[in-house]
Amino acid sequence: MSSYDVIVIGSGAGGGTLVRHLAPSGKRILLIERGDWLPREPANWSAADVFVDNRYISPDTWLDGTGKPFQPQVHYFVGGATKLYGAALYRLRKEDFGELRHHDGISPAWPIPYEEMEPYYTAAERLYQVHGQRGEDPTEPPAGAPYPFPAVSHEPRIQQLSDDLAKAGLRPFHAPCGIMLNEANTPYSACVRCATCDGFPCLVHAKSDAEVLAVRPALEHPNVVLLTNARAVALRTDSSGSEVTRVDVDVNGARETFSADIVVVSCGAANSAKLLLASANDRHPNGLANGSDQVGRNYTFHNSQAVLALSKEENPTVFQKTLGLNDFYFGSDDFDFPMGNIQMVGKSSAPMYRGEKPLETKLAPTRTLETMARHAVDFWLSTEDLPRPDNRVTLDRDGRIRLRYTPSNEEPKKRLYHKLKSLLAHAGMHPDHLIPRHAYLKTDIPVAGVAHQAGTCRFGSDPHTSVLNRDCRTHEVDNLYVVDTSCFPSIGAVNPALTAMANALRVGDHLLERMGAPRPEGEHANVG
Ligand SMILES: Cc1cc2nc3c(=O)[nH]c(=O)nc-3n(C[C@H](O)[C@H](O)[C@H](O)COP(=O)(O)OP(=O)(O)OC[C@H]3O[C@@H](n4cnc5c(N)ncnc54)[C@H](O)[C@@H]3O)c2cc1C
Ligand code: SF4
Repeated sequence: MSSYDVIVIGSGAGGGTLVRHLAPSGKRILLIERGDWLPREPANWSAADVFVDNRYISPDTWLDGTGKPFQPQVHYFVGGATKLYGAALYRLRKEDFGELRHHDGISPAWPIPYEEMEPYYTAAERLYQVHGQRGEDPTEPPAGAPYPFPAVSHEPRIQQLSDDLAKAGLRPFHAPCGIMLNEANTPYSACVRCATCDGFPCLVHAKSDAEVLAVRPALEHPNVVLLTNARAVALRTDSSGSEVTRVDVDVNGARETFSADIVVVSCGAANSAKLLLASANDRHPNGLANGSDQVGRNYTFHNSQAVLALSKEENPTVFQKTLGLNDFYFGSDDFDFPMGNIQMVGKSSAPMYRGEKPLETKLAPTRTLETMARHAVDFWLSTEDLPRPDNRVTLDRDGRIRLRYTPSNEEPKKRLYHKLKSLLAHAGMHPDHLIPRHAYLKTDIPVAGVAHQAGTCRFGSDPHTSVLNRDCRTHEVDNLYVVDTSCFPSIGAVNPALTAMANALRVGDHLLERMGAPRPEGEHANVG
């Protein structure tokens, strides 16, 4: 059995970032990833391959609350979901860290205040090369530094939309983007500003994903080892149940075991819960670190809507995800509760409609779909869904994930949609032609759109109501941590990845201190 100082399971936004932060310490680190490297191939940028043939979606089958199987939109690769993400890298609002009253109930406070996370957000923005412009977003929390790179410019149709929204009295802003675009010196820009970014892998490695900016740089350190095609299947403890002593891993079909002083689970919210539940033993009969019965509960994934507006003029925008609108984030004059965030989503194309709605588009001529795509302006609306104990991950008898989920905050979600609709008449669009588009939900089972999955192992100060303490260490097992979106006590209404990255840096500092290792300095300093 090989031994390490730290084992990290999962190489996405949480695990990949953590390993990047720990790598310069010289500690022996094993990164275990169930997927392989995502192949670099022309299909990376093919809408037909990505959206119709689901080339990069895992064949995993999960069950919904009724026991019906579905294919979740999960991506098992080095870099995790960030390989396919839209790279909109938002901070949660300061208020999201406190208790917030919503239409359907309370969104609970985080165990740490925004101020504690702030330096790590700044560091994560630097590590992931976020492009943005402070001072435009009316809900933006205080920041310790400007964005490291200038905002990605709007293309003319989106600039027009921004101007029209501003004329209507709103405060649109440049969305924070994790793409390595250098508009001042395009011949040297890694990013070529293409239309196949949001939901696609980046063929030229110019997206700020966890493979490119975290795992690869970490592997330059000889003390870091990456094991791919390696699925952690169980964590074993000593007889007292207070320490993980072994990680059982299925490596290309063969069982191997590893050990480490510290074990970090970062498999994504559903899979992290699965691993803990599958690791039940005599001392932890309900699943590892699950004496509180909280593992798997409080699953959230945003109450989102992808909608398509038809512009009177054509919309030739290539990279569309440059604008955000948070005027309704905390409510409006006619509605006292938070509604959420409006942002652009990647420009839609005819093959995407076929992939999303195969039955509805089966008889539609390609030309019609192409005309629609030429006029489409695509929005993504996120309303916070509340953490509910009954929205939860459990395992069926065969060990498969079962995801029970009932949406919350349907009213604010509806209101947000109508707000957008009422604005479109001011913005050169047909207000009656707002079409719900299930961009990330390619089947009719909404629960399959797990892109923003969070919760399931929330952190808190009370071991009876949380799984992890404020350092993201399990209350019950001394050397076991969970560092991904699982720890979120609430999800807010902005995209979750930057928060997972910042939190990984925060926990990383705690682990360095625990191991007596110095915090990285100079070019490797991620914080400060
Ligand atoms: C299409 C799409 C678009 C998105 N757009 C945005 C966006 O614009 N902005 C944003 O903030 N967020 C976006 N997200 C969400 C964002 O990618 C996730 O919130 C983030 O990656 C979550 O980080 P994580 O560490 O929790 O999980 P992941 O990044 O998914 O990492 C989990 C890793 O664990 C591995 N793993 C799972 N089980 C095991 C096991 N048993 N053993 C070993 N390895 C395992 C997985 O293969 C994966 O690599 C998007 C997601 C998708 C799918
Ligand atoms: S827009 Fe830039 S980062 Fe995104 S896929 Fe295209 S080249 Fe890559």
